[in-house]
Amino acid sequence: MPTPSLPEFKNEALVDFTRPENKSAMEAAIAKVRGEIGREYPVVIGGERITGLSTWDSTNPAHKDEVLGRFNKGTRAHVEQAVEAAWKAFESWKKQPVDVRAGLLVRAAQMMRERKHEFSAAMILEVGKTWAEADADTAEAIDFMEFYAREAYRYASEQPIVKVPSEDNNLVYIPLGVGAVIPPWNFPLAIMTGMTTAAVVTGNTVVLKPSSESPWIAYRFFALLEEAGLPPGVVNFLSGSGAEVGDPLIQHPRIRFISFTGSKEVGLHINEEAAKAQKGQLWIKRVVAEMGGKDAIIVDRETSNLDEAAAAVVASAFGFQGQKCSACSRLIVDEAIYDQLVPLVVEKTKALRIDDPASGDAQVGPVVSRKAFKTIKDYIDKGVKEGQLLAGGVADDQEGFFIQPTVIGDVDARATIAQEEIFGPVLAIIKAKDFDDALRIANDSQFGLTGAVFTDNEEKLDRAREEFFVGNLYLNRKCTGALVGVHPFGGFNMSGTDSKAGGRDYLGLFLQAKSIARKVKPESKTVQDAAAF
Ligand code: NAD
Repeated sequence: MPTPSLPEFKNEALVDFTRPENKSAMEAAIAKVRGEIGREYPVVIGGERITGLSTWDSTNPAHKDEVLGRFNKGTRAHVEQAVEAAWKAFESWKKQPVDVRAGLLVRAAQMMRERKHEFSAAMILEVGKTWAEADADTAEAIDFMEFYAREAYRYASEQPIVKVPSEDNNLVYIPLGVGAVIPPWNFPLAIMTGMTTAAVVTGNTVVLKPSSESPWIAYRFFALLEEAGLPPGVVNFLSGSGAEVGDPLIQHPRIRFISFTGSKEVGLHINEEAAKAQKGQLWIKRVVAEMGGKDAIIVDRETSNLDEAAAAVVASAFGFQGQKCSACSRLIVDEAIYDQLVPLVVEKTKALRIDDPASGDAQVGPVVSRKAFKTIKDYIDKGVKEGQLLAGGVADDQEGFFIQPTVIGDVDARATIAQEEIFGPVLAIIKAKDFDDALRIANDSQFGLTGAVFTDNEEKLDRAREEFFVGNLYLNRKCTGALVGVHPFGGFNMSGTDSKAGGRDYLGLFLQAKSIARKVKPESKTVQDAAAF
């Protein structure tokens, strides 16, 4: 039985950028990664670098003409090659002892820690994260690797099962095979790192199709894995579009599992495609699909610190421009305190500093792309007809894709902006008659990812524990900022398969259990033997 010599897991500390040495370290990192822009990046299959394909540019959403990198577009033929290369690598990777696989993650985590500002700087430039948001994303990526390395030892150790005297019984976890890893752009480092390394540390090999909005960060991570000693073919870097690479990949008969995080629409599409058994397919594909949210914070009349509640709402709604699956997009306020709480939320929203995140002073940066800019603007146009515009509402795409944090009050619980995921800086405020009504409104959603309740009343908190139907519930705090190991993450309903990333159940999704029984005393036939099948 392997014994890890790893110290107990601890979350990576966040960086305090008010300290001058940290501020200058980040400025230097931004300058360094800016010095690397404009390069071309290959598709990498089985360690082989492939270029010369058609390409697309990844750009900076704060300066839409700044090209960060040029990416080769994989095709259906590359999907074939990548799946083949991954199966070839699987034959030896699955036999590696857990020390080797977990060791790779710990080494990569340490290397990322040493270069953390460079990873954060790449996110600041490619997806418009503020310094603090980018730093938290990098810290989470490090946490995932450290946590899953330790978890791999637990899954590789002897499993508790009932023993019978006539047999030597055990249960072992073995990898599934070759998987497709399809991450989103909004936690472009953390989520991609978690999904990829969980698959790899359990002995699988993968085809990683990065999001088209964040391939620059994805490639930096892939290169780090290679530098940390990842053998060729264990992770294959297949950049390309959802239609040209994504579909052939998820439909491929030799893909054993799909690990997806993204929108409800794409998640349902993948689930449906994966369910169709293709010619020659030997298994039912396993799909882990973590999808969208329409997350609510309830503020009850028995809340003594309304200022604290308003600050938590604003942080949850507008952190990373509201582009988090966990973002608060519905504020449900008890009518008894509506007129006290709402002005506080509006005042704090209007005080947010919007700027290019590279400057270091921004609290709100651009939204990720032209497409996102347009979608969010359309929702705001609809929202101002569905409620009362209280803050923001202005969008400006002259230099970058900037949208003011927008608050819309007096929204009906069934209005479009209260039901559909906008995935931008738009908060709908809904009035509730009382706590019962607030809970009913909160649960009146196709999603069920995160939620929070502010109240001083213990009984109401207990009711929220039982009745608020979300995968991640927070009491008297904001509804974003889940920590690896502390808040295993995943949602109910159309928010996905509740995989609980960063939790003890997660690696099990990349494994299959095999029970092995060896008869040791043929003469001692027991009652259990007779009854078993
Ligand atoms: P998206 O669904 O547009 O894309 C996600 C990934 O799927 C990307 O890599 C994309 O290229 C790929 N893709 C698109 N079409 C495909 C196809 N036909 N076949 C295979 N792959 C395809 O989502 P996004 O815009 O990248 O991310 C935002 C969404 O992700 C939001 O809905 C957000 O709530 C959700 N999200 C959920 C969680 C969670 O843990 N539940 C975490 C982060 C983000």
